[in-house]
Amino acid sequence: MAKTMAVNAGSSSLKFQLLEMPQEQVIAQGVIERIGMNDAIVTIKYNAKSGIVSELEQGDDKEHTSLSKNGSELKYENVLPIGDHEQAINYMLQKLTDLNIISEFKEITGVGHRVVAGGEWFNHSVVVTDSVLEKIDRLADYAPLHNPANAMGIRAFQRLLPNALSVAVFDTSFHQTMPKSNYLYPLPYQYYTRYGARKYGAHGTSHRYVSLRASELLGKPLASLKLITLHLGAGASITAVQNGKSLDTSMGFSPLAGVAMATRTGDVDPSLVYYIQERENLSNEEMLNILNKKSGLLGVSTISSDMRDLLEVEETNDHAKLAIDIFINRIVKYVGQYVAEMNGVDALVFTAGIGENSAPIRQRIIDKLSYFGVKLDPVANNKRGDEIEISTKDSNVKALLIPTNEELMIARDVEELK
Ligand code: ADP
Repeated sequence: MAKTMAVNAGSSSLKFQLLEMPQEQVIAQGVIERIGMNDAIVTIKYNAKSGIVSELEQGDDKEHTSLSKNGSELKYENVLPIGDHEQAINYMLQKLTDLNIISEFKEITGVGHRVVAGGEWFNHSVVVTDSVLEKIDRLADYAPLHNPANAMGIRAFQRLLPNALSVAVFDTSFHQTMPKSNYLYPLPYQYYTRYGARKYGAHGTSHRYVSLRASELLGKPLASLKLITLHLGAGASITAVQNGKSLDTSMGFSPLAGVAMATRTGDVDPSLVYYIQERENLSNEEMLNILNKKSGLLGVSTISSDMRDLLEVEETNDHAKLAIDIFINRIVKYVGQYVAEMNGVDALVFTAGIGENSAPIRQRIIDKLSYFGVKLDPVANNKRGDEIEISTKDSNVKALLIPTNEELMIARDVEELK
């Protein structure tokens, strides 16, 4: 049977999900972390199947291998030296075979790769050719930490699964529909023509997926809807989606712009950056590191980048409270801008780690937006679980909680290009 793999390759990690398509059924998922180290960690989760006992008995390195069961889900874990991405993928494919999840490598007929930067070259997902790969390499200027790793993942899979269709799915492509008046910064125009200095946005696959699901849940065509999608994870971005297209988004040239995030500043007056840099005698790299890794919730709270930690102590810790207030305030302001830009909104869609899991944060955001007629249903908001409408029946603007599923979107794109 035809199986498709959705892949997210980072510099030292590789996440994957294996799906049966077109049934859209997840067969296995996992991650290989610490690639390049002597103690790389391989984790594969999958449904109970035959073959498990023999695997338990064989265990290639009993000391570090473990198989555990949680309901019908089995988890394979191993710690071992893994030199590079190709070795990691080879090991993972071999394990999928040993665990009877696939019977041979060539059952995987398509591989979809998340690629962070697609620049202006890619406004949709594409089959990877030599010229596509070369462009992904060249776009490394826009995503120096991500594109090289994404390209490495693509090349390794191409070598190991030469017959599988290789597809690149870009984080930025959904936002290529933004009008120039929204994506262009009011800088001297030549920087746009010379260097592609503009807003590209990110999290596009997530915003695209939740918009699609929102239109299905609301029972209205995307072409008739004004949506604001709030992807609130460690990285956070907000998008105005009009007629199914990204009209504007909060991230910018890089993911550093927009709302405050776990460790990123979001929008800051650029002159302040130079002011601090000079006084603290920081190199460009050090300053960028502070803006990306030491700011946001972590920077303000001084205690944690994780919203859960801050919510726990906010009553007694002023810094934690301030960090949460700034986080919410920024989001509320962006939503207000997008309501203005679209001249209205039909639904707000919450997704990603904080958006999906934090009822109090959703509540605080929605409570501040009552001026345009969104009313929270507190009972629905406190339910755990899947997709759910969290606004009241008589709310003029709907609020939805939709868990994101970038892997499924990637697998669908592969199917479409087959
Ligand atoms: P990313 O993919 O950007 O790394 P996620 O979408 O996985 O991030 O979101 C991770 C974040 O979600 C964590 O840093 C944490 O702050 C937040 N989070 C997860 N669960 C909860 C929860 N129950 N309450 C508040 N925040 C949560």
